[in-house]
Amino acid sequence: MKTIAFFDTKPYDRESFDRANAGRYDIRYFETRLSAAALPLAEGCDAACAFVNAEIDRAVVEGLVARGVKVLAMRCAGYNNVDFRAAYEAGLTVVRVPAYSPYAVAEHAAALLLALTRHVHRAAARTRDYNFSLVGLTGFDLHGKTAGVVGTGKIGRIFADICKGFGMRVLAYDAFPNPATGLEYVPLDRLLAESDVVSLHCPLLPETKHMIDANSLAKAKRGFTLVNTSRGGLVDSDALLAALRDGTVGAAGLDVYEEESEWFYEDRSDATRQNKTLSLLVSLPNVIVTSHQAFLTREALANIASTTLGNLDAFFSGAPLENEICYRCTGTERPEGASCPRRRNGRCIGSQV
Ligand code: NAD
Repeated sequence: MKTIAFFDTKPYDRESFDRANAGRYDIRYFETRLSAAALPLAEGCDAACAFVNAEIDRAVVEGLVARGVKVLAMRCAGYNNVDFRAAYEAGLTVVRVPAYSPYAVAEHAAALLLALTRHVHRAAARTRDYNFSLVGLTGFDLHGKTAGVVGTGKIGRIFADICKGFGMRVLAYDAFPNPATGLEYVPLDRLLAESDVVSLHCPLLPETKHMIDANSLAKAKRGFTLVNTSRGGLVDSDALLAALRDGTVGAAGLDVYEEESEWFYEDRSDATRQNKTLSLLVSLPNVIVTSHQAFLTREALANIASTTLGNLDAFFSGAPLENEICYRCTGTERPEGASCPRRRNGRCIGSQV
């Protein structure tokens, strides 16, 4: 039986993977995140399974291969945390789960938006204290307002549909506009200038890092609501904090934060040291931070488990790997979505099984 070293395990992962596995793999669940220090746990395992905030650098890649791991199964869609060139050179196949529930993420973006526009988080805190005052809770109608959707892939398109359902006008920006969406594509500057709500749904790449910074915020419609369920690095957090304080940004719903890996997914309430910018952001009444939980629905967890184990089934049986990625097809050297020129027999890397 093939063995999987499963890192960063949470109770909900174990539940969904045990259900999908039905005994076909020996899954060794570890609470620790995959890192150089955790490598001994992978000794002799055939596969490693990691999640979104593991830093999978060259040392980790080479350490996995040295311990006999042949395939790294990322149980997430984003992959900015993997050194793909190192993986390619070391012959470590990397597979991922490109989509598990775009609805989960788009609906969470909508949840953040609605909570912010109607101050639901503040109202809930008040009524818990038996404070039933409405003063300071005046919101605004989404109907008739403009939503700017940045990145019109699987999640962005669903979010755009949700906004249309609210009766909003939708503007879109994408580096690779897709006419089939029927969306009105405009340059990013125009989207920022006209949108009351801006929601980010594009990947974190060198060219998208800090796409929301002091410069772009200066071009935005004053008082707009920013929603980011994509990747923290898309937003310069210090610039956002300053913009929230001076009213350039009216409210922000953040499911991701650029330095989240040290804090998110764990109870850090007793930490003596805190991240200064994050502490200031969470203290603002017009900010909601959630801990990278947009994916967390029952449906998404079941899809993540079945796709991850299906990826491993395909790898170990020698079948084509639909969900494999390498540095030639991750968007760092070719546009995202373009096929990897090195793909042979349905695989990027001809690893020996
Ligand atoms: P997708 O690949 O279907 O869509 C991404 C879109 O971004 C594509 O249309 C692409 O053309 C566009 N894009 C690429 N480069 C761009 C650029 N430079 N500027 C503007 N647009 C660009 O991806 P998806 O499934 O819709 O996911 C979107 C993002 O959501 C992912 O990159 C991931 O980081 C994030 N995500 C977050 C969670 C969460 O739990 N918070 C879960 C899943 C995905």
